[in-house]
Amino acid sequence: MSELRELYQTVILDHNKNPKNFGALEDANRSAEGYNPLCGDQLRVMIRIDDDAVADVRFEGSGCAISTASASLMTQAVKGKPLADALKLFDGFHEMLTTNATREVEASHLGKLAVFAGVREFPMRVKCATLAWHTFKNAIEDTGTVAKTE
Ligand code: ZN
Repeated sequence: MSELRELYQTVILDHNKNPKNFGALEDANRSAEGYNPLCGDQLRVMIRIDDDAVADVRFEGSGCAISTASASLMTQAVKGKPLADALKLFDGFHEMLTTNATREVEASHLGKLAVFAGVREFPMRVKCATLAWHTFKNAIEDTGTVAKTE
């Protein structure tokens, strides 16, 4: 477990410092905003959907290290994926984070995202980690509502 914790810190610090796919997406055809009032994280996820796949995705906004790193890793994870696969990742990620922290989770299918299993030890932070994902899902479903992880 300590190995995972170390990896978790490295990955989060790294992606917070140099977030991937950060900034406006000029030719986005979907977007949504997310807000986590518990922490003050605020972000916008912009997607270009082509042929039922995530052709491109970017995010902007400001938040804590965990919300920024999670958004960064999310964009990497879903970019280029068919929408159905991207939503399956959402489900897997969400399930991992809402499983009791004392339980081992099978997260090999989540790749790099598995490091976020460490967040379960800090329940307040789960909202930070899932914010980008909820916002992404809203953007895909084009509901026009602001994702709130409260
Ligand atoms: Zn946060």
